Amino acid sequence: MSANPKKKKLSLAGQIFIALILAIIVGLCMMGCSDIAAKYIKPFGTIFLNLVKFIVCPIVLFSIMSGVMSMRDIRKVGAIGWKTIVYYLLTTACAITIGLLVGNIFKGIFPVLETTDLVYEANTSASFMDTLVGIFPSNFLAPIVNANMLQIIVMALLLGFSVVLVGEKMEGVIAATTRLTDVFMKCMELILKLSPIGVFCLLTPVIAANGPAIVGSLAKVLLAAYIGYLIQLIVVYSITVRTMGGMNPVTFFKGMLSTMIFAFSSASSVGTLPLNMEATQKLGADKEVTSFVLPLGATINMDGTAIYMGVCSIFIASCFGIELTISQMITIVLTATLASIGTAGVPGAGMIMLAMVLQSVGLPVEGIALVAGIDRLFDMGRTVVNITGDSSCAIIVSNAERKREARKAAKS
Ligand code: ASP
Repeated sequence: MSANPKKKKLSLAGQIFIALILAIIVGLCMMGCSDIAAKYIKPFGTIFLNLVKFIVCPIVLFSIMSGVMSMRDIRKVGAIGWKTIVYYLLTTACAITIGLLVGNIFKGIFPVLETTDLVYEANTSASFMDTLVGIFPSNFLAPIVNANMLQIIVMALLLGFSVVLVGEKMEGVIAATTRLTDVFMKCMELILKLSPIGVFCLLTPVIAANGPAIVGSLAKVLLAAYIGYLIQLIVVYSITVRTMGGMNPVTFFKGMLSTMIFAFSSASSVGTLPLNMEATQKLGADKEVTSFVLPLGATINMDGTAIYMGVCSIFIASCFGIELTISQMITIVLTATLASIGTAGVPGAGMIMLAMVLQSVGLPVEGIALVAGIDRLFDMGRTVVNITGDSSCAIIVSNAERKREARKAAKS
């Protein structure tokens, strides 16, 4: 069943890569006439971006709502559920902080671009209190109409929790939300199919205006993201697996190697799930724990995606000559943590969610064009981090549960 879609996904990645190469060639050839590229090629890229913006609101609303609704199962599994959620949230917040730190360290070598007609409306004047108040919607439709991401997240959380609290009578609503999430995911998949055209049309004018410098800067932002991924893997997970999981990190990574390689080549957490289950159980995690923790992780725990969002936000801000304030960075930590929950475990989903993070701090969504051409390269690394984070959680929760059982047995 999985052989066919995998082939299709890979070919889309190939198409995007070809689009990137073509954009570089055509862009360089048009260096003398960049206004023509901006006038006649860029509008098609704008259409692609508009579609991305169009789909991001329903995706966030519905996927976070269905994520919260799955809490009903978490209540059923009690102790395992809460430990899992806390670990997922903490490691994701840690990941986005690493992303922002690495991004800030690399900022000095990121370029400031000639961004043709792109405009940036600074929204740095709002105070922290204003930002806080602004997160809560005062109107049911306004968050969606204005594409206010933080308000949409609050709305999704409130509605999702309300459904969980109302309880059993809500089965129909939960099923409908899951179905609608599937529909929007499909829609996102269709829009992503246009990425090669989008990438070509958005990147050509930027290269025509900036010349070859931009190509080198892509290598720099990619390097920054991979350094972030490695820190999360080698430092964060090694520490958590050793201290809370009671396992030697070398044993952990050895056991995970083939699964990590599969994640790297498939760029899909969901596609890697069966392999991850097997590997994590072989490493000693309980079956009961893995069968809850890993599917949930493949849906909501995306540490690699969070790192990518941090690095790319800083990169895009510096390309547009924007200095991010501390309160904007805090907003990025919050939104990216939630955005990674809303990211589907399929190739390219993180890029759509990056649009949401950029919107939340008023950065130009057009900036996605800069990194979209090599998104697959980012995606392969972030998926490895995503699934390793899930597996580390299963090891830790299994260990904690075993200890709890032992304590219980000792008492009785
Ligand atoms: N491809 C990633 C995953 O499956 C999600 C993303 O695009 O960040 O985990």
